[in-house]
Amino acid sequence: MKLLRYGPAGHEQPGMLDAQGTLRSLTGIIPDLLPAHLAPQSLARLAALNPASLPAVRDAPRLGVPIAGTRKFLAIGLNFADHAAESNLPIPTEPVVFTKAVSCLQGPNDPVMLPKDSKKSDWEVELGVVIGSTARYVEEREALEYVAGYVVVNDLSEREYQIERGGTWDKGKGCDTFGPVGPWLVTRDEVGDVQNLDMWLDINGVRKQAGNTRTMIFGVATLVSYVSRFITLEPGDMITTGTPPGVGMGQKPHPVYLAPGDRIRLGIEKLGEQAQTVHGWQRR
Ligand code: ZN
Repeated sequence: MKLLRYGPAGHEQPGMLDAQGTLRSLTGIIPDLLPAHLAPQSLARLAALNPASLPAVRDAPRLGVPIAGTRKFLAIGLNFADHAAESNLPIPTEPVVFTKAVSCLQGPNDPVMLPKDSKKSDWEVELGVVIGSTARYVEEREALEYVAGYVVVNDLSEREYQIERGGTWDKGKGCDTFGPVGPWLVTRDEVGDVQNLDMWLDINGVRKQAGNTRTMIFGVATLVSYVSRFITLEPGDMITTGTPPGVGMGQKPHPVYLAPGDRIRLGIEKLGEQAQTVHGWQRR
């Protein structure tokens, strides 16, 4: 099942994508796609609906973040060995956990705005994990049962803020518009083996990142179990799980960063695609 939210920012309505690719409204069924709808029994209720019985949304509306009410947007750093190498950093012995501010969440195709005076804004295609049930000290072998589904995330990052300004990475990770999520949440049953999904990202039509979730250092089950020993994971929380090589910081012979007018396209097998245009900073 592919669950989504559509409509103007702040006024999204719940929907699903049917097997033919038609957007179907869930407005008559649920008020919005909320964390409470991600529990296994709630997902089962939505899955039991006949999509053809739901109103089709004919125009191509803006898509929002697929889930409303996310309270934590956690992230894993350096989770692909090749990306750690291009970052000139050692392969972590335990997952690197940091936070992206929930205020950076936005729809999958909303414009990306560079932070004020940013010179080193960068891209990162990532698999996002959406939590469906409260997870505390869960064992690795049962960890996936706490996952509702998966999303594409662009973990946009300001490298100067992240690396050169002292302290933790969080300063370069939570800038406004730095968290496009979607186009939809694909439920776990529809994804199959989450550790074998191709992922890619293009800048202005040129392939920059090409990877596969099979080369993660720490897989999804390990990450959910690991994080749950430190932070209680709640329905609607997201963990974005690290990026393969090919970020701007790792380009040769010298790094390349985002500039106004750049077009970003990214996607993950079975999870759909995002497209963003980059804009300069504007007060809002
Ligand atoms: Zn990342």
